[in-house]
Amino acid sequence: MNKDAKICIIGGGPAGLSAAVHLEKKGYTNYTILEKENWVGGKCHSPHYKDKRYEMGAIMGCPTYYAVHELEEFGGATHEGGPKLERGYRRLNGKPYDPFDPKRNPFLIPRLLKTKKQVKKLGSILKTKYKGYEYTGHRGVAEGRYDGFDPVTGEHITGENPNLKDLSMPFDKFCKMNGVELCQDIWIAPFTAFGYGYFDEIPAAYVLKYLDFETAMYFVNKNLWTWIDGTQSIYECVNAKLKNPARLGVTIDKVTRENGKVQVYIGDTVEEYDAIIVTSPLQFLPDYFDATAEEKEYFSKIDYERYDVTANVLKPGTDYPDMSYYIFDNMKPERIGNLMVFYVRWKKNPDQVITTYILRNHKGKELLSYEKGKKLAAEGLATCGMTVDKCVYERDWYYFPHVFEKDYAAGWYDKVEAMQGNLNTYYAGEIMSFGDMEETVQYSKDLVARFF
Ligand SMILES: Cc1cc2nc3c(=O)[nH]c(=O)nc-3n(C[C@H](O)[C@H](O)[C@H](O)COP(=O)(O)OP(=O)(O)OC[C@H]3O[C@@H](n4cnc5c(N)ncnc54)[C@H](O)[C@@H]3O)c2cc1C
Repeated sequence: MNKDAKICIIGGGPAGLSAAVHLEKKGYTNYTILEKENWVGGKCHSPHYKDKRYEMGAIMGCPTYYAVHELEEFGGATHEGGPKLERGYRRLNGKPYDPFDPKRNPFLIPRLLKTKKQVKKLGSILKTKYKGYEYTGHRGVAEGRYDGFDPVTGEHITGENPNLKDLSMPFDKFCKMNGVELCQDIWIAPFTAFGYGYFDEIPAAYVLKYLDFETAMYFVNKNLWTWIDGTQSIYECVNAKLKNPARLGVTIDKVTRENGKVQVYIGDTVEEYDAIIVTSPLQFLPDYFDATAEEKEYFSKIDYERYDVTANVLKPGTDYPDMSYYIFDNMKPERIGNLMVFYVRWKKNPDQVITTYILRNHKGKELLSYEKGKKLAAEGLATCGMTVDKCVYERDWYYFPHVFEKDYAAGWYDKVEAMQGNLNTYYAGEIMSFGDMEETVQYSKDLVARFF
């Protein structure tokens, strides 16, 4: 593409800003980011409470966040000095315990030993039987190929591996088939409690693109990054360094693709571009684009999680917790809507909000109402000894767009990837890889390398 090409990017979240950074690095400076909110960062959203920032969206990264680190360097942001992530576990009755400590749970020793063995086995089969599983995006996976970007070396790598087809099956089935069922005990907290759904419905490909073996081990060993001013500060820094910072508060009324160009309608004006990169939810694209039959068909298959977050001030006099806590028994579909984790950013500090996390949907189950979920979250905190005085902020996120086993196995990704560039339109953002910072930022980097 000509370096003067006029490029529109929809969305000022990690995916959109990453696309802009990598376009700029390649010499494309005639780009425009259109963001509907009055902030950049999307689901990296870190509002203020008193003199600190808290997290309503993304919280953490780890040393495998190579592409995010590149953005940190571009923007002059750093994860050094972020509040240390400490975590504990609570039972349904709110009492703390440690399910992984063999000294306190001698009866669990056989299971813990088995788990350790299976984790090792999974690590080994991922390197051999599932070689190529971790590259950016899902190109080829359903056909038994890998075709992606290695974030460590920056190389584009392709190859054949028919075993990769197994990744379309739900993670619980995948683990069972490979004799590593107990690994779910380790993968579940950073997956289900982080809102990514239940293992009986989510294809293993998603679980393992995000929690590749190395990343999962950083979670286990608590080698995690946080940002003192929140994850949003990464993207604010990046935006401030861009030649063309995002235009905020923009409502796009309509997008048409005619005469070899892209027309974006905003109020009374029409802006014409040579190409458009869509990082906003593709499921909603047909609502304002002149969507093709293919776009309508494939994007209608996207499902997403209903993941709710509340930020709470506790009743005066409450003893604020020493760390964040997971409630494992609530990470099952039978306990849908119940508190799975609460996040404490500053140890014992009463000048902060405590954030709660619940999931409201499971395939084939009736969707729980938002109000019911909010009530259950507050009840969960109360069970752990924290009565909510007031909820200062709440969000029901459009979260972790994905497709299910059948569509994954039928080659949804290869079909959508084959549409890249049609009508000068490119797709990026969460569905194209996975709904976390690293995967979305990596995907945009790869997209720019492939097509621009
Ligand atoms: C509660 C929570 C916890 C999380 N925890 C982590 C974590 O610890 N680590 C991690 O790596 N990730 C985490 N994530 C996920 C991470 O935040 C997202 O995967 C990432 O922000 C996705 O980036 P994106 O740019 O693809 O999408 P988004 O962040 O959703 O950004 C999309 C942007 O597009 C804008 N937009 C949408 N529609 C339009 C439109 N029509 N016109 C213009 N603009 C539009 C949106 O306003 C938004 O700014 C978490 C998310 C949430 C909600």
